[in-house]
Amino acid sequence: MQTLFRKLPKVDILMNSKELEIVKNSINSNKFYQLVKDEIEKYRTLIKNREITDFSIDEIINNIISNSKKVQGGNLKKVINGTGVIIHTNLGRSILNEQIGKRILETSTNYNNLEYDIKLGKRGDRNSHIEKLITKITGAESALIVNNNAAAVILCLNEFAKNKNVIVSRGELVEIGGAFRIPDIMELSGAKLKEVGTTNKTHLWDYENAITEETSMILKVHTSNFKILGFVESTDNLSIAKLGKEKNVITMEDLGSGILIDLSKYGITKEPTVQESVKSGIDLITISGDKLLGGPQCGIILGKKEYIDRLKKNQYLRAFRVDKLVLTALETTLEFYLDEREAVREIPTLKMITEDKEVVYKKAETLQKMFDEIGIQTKIIKSLAKIGGGSMPEECVDSFALAFSQNPLMLEERFRLGENSIIGRIQENSYILDLKTIFEDDFSTIIEKAKKIGIADE
Ligand SMILES: *Cc1c(COP(=O)(O)O)cnc(C)c1O
Repeated sequence: MQTLFRKLPKVDILMNSKELEIVKNSINSNKFYQLVKDEIEKYRTLIKNREITDFSIDEIINNIISNSKKVQGGNLKKVINGTGVIIHTNLGRSILNEQIGKRILETSTNYNNLEYDIKLGKRGDRNSHIEKLITKITGAESALIVNNNAAAVILCLNEFAKNKNVIVSRGELVEIGGAFRIPDIMELSGAKLKEVGTTNKTHLWDYENAITEETSMILKVHTSNFKILGFVESTDNLSIAKLGKEKNVITMEDLGSGILIDLSKYGITKEPTVQESVKSGIDLITISGDKLLGGPQCGIILGKKEYIDRLKKNQYLRAFRVDKLVLTALETTLEFYLDEREAVREIPTLKMITEDKEVVYKKAETLQKMFDEIGIQTKIIKSLAKIGGGSMPEECVDSFALAFSQNPLMLEERFRLGENSIIGRIQENSYILDLKTIFEDDFSTIIEKAKKIGIADE
C-alpha cells in the first residue's frame, strides 16, 4: 500500500506534464487544477480501500483528459437540434452567422467606441451604431434597441400611456412564451387596458367609439402563437393609423417576430413585413431581434423621431439597454439585409426557412450512409419542420428526417444525455432526427455519439 501511495504523482507534476498540455490550454486553470486534484484523490481513496492493487500514470492521465471534455462546454453549451423546429425557444431561438462571433471577439476583447463619437472626440450614443442601418432597411424615421421585445413594449407603454387608457382588441390579448401577457404587461407599465371588440371581430368603429379624453394609445398586438379561424375580422393598420391621427392618439403595433423580407416568394404564407407596417403610418412598432429577424436577443422599437427621442429619456431605458455583444451581433445581422439574397444565404434562420428541400434530402442521404457504415439502419422519411419561435403558429416547411427502429424513448434519452447532447423528436412511435436543423459539420459528432451510446446492438 505504501508503495502505491508513493507511486501517486504530485499535482503540480501532472499539471506540467506534456501529456496534459492540451487540456491545460483548453480549460481555465482553476478547473484544470481541480480535475487533476480530484483524480489523484480518487486514486488515493481506491488505494486506501484496497480496491486496486496497481495502476499506471497513463491511466490517470487518460482519465483526466476524458473528464476535461465533460467540463469544457460549461453549463450553457452547444446542443445539436434534431427537432426540426427552426426558431426553438428552448434551444436558444435564432442562431447567428459565424462571422458575428469574430466581430464580437474583436469588439469585446478590446476597448471600443460603444459610447464614444470618434469623429467628435467625445461621448457618443450606443444606439447610434445601429440606427442608420435599421432605418435604412425598414424605412422608419428612427429606432431604439432594448433587451427584448417585452422591454420594448413596456418602455413604450410607460412613456406614452402611463395612467392613461390604451385600447386593445379582445382578439389580441395574448400570452406569449409564458410570462408575456398583454394585460399584465399593461399593468406593469402603469397603463390602463381598455378592451374593445370581441374575440373574433374588432371593427374600426369599436376603436373609434372607445376613444375618450383618457385615451393615449391604440395598441395592435400580433397574435403570434395562435390563430383564430373562421368568422374573423380585425382592423388594418392603415385605418388604425388614420384614426389615430384624426383623434390625436398614438398608434402602436407589437409585431412580435417581425419579418424584414417577404417570405411568400419562398412558399411561406404571406405575413405583413416590418416595412409594410412602417409604411402604414403606425407611430411605433416593436419587434424581437431573435425570432424571424434572425439576430441576437433584443427588442427593436421603430418610429417617428420625436417619439424615439422621448423614449431615450425614459428612466427604464437605463435598465433595458443592450450591451456591446448584442449590438455587434445585431449590426452584423442587419448588414446582411442590405442585400436580400445575402440575408437569405447568411442568416441561418432565413437560410433554413428558404432552403430547398432537395438540399435537406441530400443531407439525410449522407447521414444515413454514415449510420449505415456503423451498422445502424435508418429510414429517410418526409417531415414538416416548424418555423417556431411563437411566430407563425401553423407554418411548416418541407423537410426530411432519419427515423430509427430502436425503442424511441431509449434513443431520445441516450442521444440527449452525456457529452454532445442531441435533441431529437418522437413521431409516430419512432425516434427521428430532422435534417432541417442539423448541420453537416455535426454529422461526425452524431456518429461518434451513436457509437458511444451503444445503440447498434439493441
Ligand atoms: C415574442 C413576442 C413578444 C416577446 O418578445 P421577446 O423578444 O421574447 O421579449 C412580445 N409580443 C409578441 C407579439 C411576440 O410575438
